[in-house]
Amino acid sequence: MARVFSGIQPSGELHIGNYLGAVKNWVAIQHQMQSVFCIVNLHAITQAYEPAQLRERTQAMALTLIAAGIDPATCILFVQSDVAEHTELQWIFNTVTPLGELERQTQFKEKSSRAGSGEVSIPAGLLNYPVLQAADILLYRADNVPVGEDQVQHLELSRVIARNWNARFKAGYFPEPQALLTPTRRIMGLDGQAKMSKSLGNTVGLLESPDEIWAKLRPAVTDPARVKKTDPGNPEVCNIFSLHRAFSPAETVTHVDAQCRSAGWGCVDCKKVLHGNMVAELVPIQARAAELRAEPKRVAAALAGGAERARELAKVTMREVRDHMGLTA
Ligand code: SF4
Repeated sequence: MARVFSGIQPSGELHIGNYLGAVKNWVAIQHQMQSVFCIVNLHAITQAYEPAQLRERTQAMALTLIAAGIDPATCILFVQSDVAEHTELQWIFNTVTPLGELERQTQFKEKSSRAGSGEVSIPAGLLNYPVLQAADILLYRADNVPVGEDQVQHLELSRVIARNWNARFKAGYFPEPQALLTPTRRIMGLDGQAKMSKSLGNTVGLLESPDEIWAKLRPAVTDPARVKKTDPGNPEVCNIFSLHRAFSPAETVTHVDAQCRSAGWGCVDCKKVLHGNMVAELVPIQARAAELRAEPKRVAAALAGGAERARELAKVTMREVRDHMGLTA
């Protein structure tokens, strides 16, 4: 069976952007491929952070992932820092990664320009971040990585690193991982301006109550052409319509399209229908989250079991890597 690896930042509870953009896809994939899913806390320390908050957010992420349908008995779910081999392989990969490739990474350029604009110096970890990402994937010799469009460049670098290592030490040892493009399109924030992101404050949390969700949906940006209820709109430019595509049945999506173009519905009518469909999907997830919160040991045990299984795979890879590199007696 093909193996898939994917990681998610420990940003606390999921919001609907990372649920629709990644996790919902993981829930389906775990039944189709051997799946290794990792909460990548080592990637979260390249910038200043509070240790207690990181721990709390890591646990909240694990809880929400399981509530959202990630089944630790079906896939391997673990926290990155629980498997030390990730950083060992990263060091090895640093020795076969061209510096120029790292400096060209868009995310490095963006983040370093932000970090460099203040007093804070740029940590080397920001530059080497994609090398750790390559180690995350290749440690499990994963064939596929579900990614959004903005991650394709990092995956290409993982392929370069696999090729370089293979060329020097053992032809064909690491597979060149292929991108599995996430079927759901990029989810924009409720401000309609940028990708949904906690730092921009434009999210809907997966565990927010129906009233909280409505309080956010009601003022959300729609097609600016719909100034009056009688103005026809274009659903293709409306973020609420994208959310209908994600949460509403196909016949509702067709109906929304027609009602928007003919000004049959006002935007509040449209948002009420969306709200109903969102709540229908999120309520069972929220119920599972409440059960898990009542039994926190279940989440801890799931992560410990996942780390154990991940370590078994990682140890085999590292034993063979050290052997091929002459690092064993
Ligand atoms: S009717 Fe719906 S799809 Fe059309 S602009 Fe309003 S919220 Fe968007």
